[in-house]
Amino acid sequence: MKELDREAHDADAADPLASFRDLFAGAETELVYFDGNSLGRPLAATAGTLSDFVRDAWGGRLIRGWDESWMQLPFTLGDRLGASVLGAAAGQTVVGDSTTVLLYKLVRAAFDAQRAADPARREIVVDRDNFPTDRYIVEAIAGERSGAVRWLTPDPAGGVEPDELSAAIGSETAVVVLSHVAYRSGHLADAAELTRRAHAAGALVVWDLCHSAGVVPTELDAWGVDIAVGCTYKYLGGGPGSPAFAYVATRHHEALHQPIPGWMSADDVFAMGADYRPAAGMRRFLSGTPPIVGMLALGDMLDMIERAGIAAIRAKSEALTAFAVRVSDVLLAPLGVSLATPREPERRGGHVTLSHPAMREVTTRLWREDVLPDFRFPDGLRIGLSPLSTSFRETLTGLRAVADALR
Ligand SMILES: *Cc1c(COP(=O)(O)O)cnc(C)c1O
Repeated sequence: MKELDREAHDADAADPLASFRDLFAGAETELVYFDGNSLGRPLAATAGTLSDFVRDAWGGRLIRGWDESWMQLPFTLGDRLGASVLGAAAGQTVVGDSTTVLLYKLVRAAFDAQRAADPARREIVVDRDNFPTDRYIVEAIAGERSGAVRWLTPDPAGGVEPDELSAAIGSETAVVVLSHVAYRSGHLADAAELTRRAHAAGALVVWDLCHSAGVVPTELDAWGVDIAVGCTYKYLGGGPGSPAFAYVATRHHEALHQPIPGWMSADDVFAMGADYRPAAGMRRFLSGTPPIVGMLALGDMLDMIERAGIAAIRAKSEALTAFAVRVSDVLLAPLGVSLATPREPERRGGHVTLSHPAMREVTTRLWREDVLPDFRFPDGLRIGLSPLSTSFRETLTGLRAVADALR
């Protein structure tokens, strides 16, 4: 087993991003964090950002803060996300609401626009393994708009593949809703190809980027993506309940009408006029007052991502998941653990899922020992490896604890 220790040591020594780990609060402890794909660790600097905000911005500028910067923050942060993480030119990304709410607003807007253009398009396509929120929203929209759901049933240890999608779409498809990285298996969808297939059938695609934003680069503009949403509290480190982001390609802005119009999405916010007219650009997808306090940590994390570069983050992510698979093959496979994630690094996102019937009990025990993975029904232990805050040594220590717990 000395071999694995040496590999972890050498990988940390060669890691160009290793020093970023020291910037996270709590990284100096022995705790092993395998859940940065559910809630990223905070940056130590964010404590200062928050207290400065209370004292100087909120406390000092008071209501003037809205005019001076807060009204623009959802768009400036959105543009930074677009440039550093999403592959989106400015003016197409906004931060606000939750992923659930943005998915609802945008899937419904896309459905209505498609249906208005062609009444035969009444189906929304989604997969049975998609995140619950995505499935519930698709079912709700189909119900309230007299549409229908068409289900895909991908391999639970994989995800939606282009041919499976092609077989399910056609002249009745309005919208396709897919996750870029499957939350259970970690499967990385071929978003460019799936988008191309959907467009060939006349459908629009809404991508859920929750498990890829900040760890797997996307090229939303180059791939011709229509709409995407994602959360900021996972790999983007925005903190518990930080708001989500939405991307809508410029070519769709005019035609999309979201179902929760509010004063913040009106064309002249402070005119407070009698009739609602949607704003031009991404503002039309907001509803009410944006959650400014909830966006502050995201700004700090974007500073880091801009410095590190998303390509380097992805390279380390692939190395970390490959190391986790290697350790699992050596230490856990002999104990009956199987890999429920694609084996090729380029076909998965930032986490690895390990299956064994005892994983629920294993998780409970590990949490007591300050080793924090998470459990996903029915028998999956998710090992989330956040590249800026996770070391190879930490990965080895945590997987050894899994082996001990199983024994
Ligand atoms: C985490 C996650 C969500 C969360 O949605 P919220 O509205 O932030 O609770 C949605 N979709 C996927 C794929 C996720 O992984």
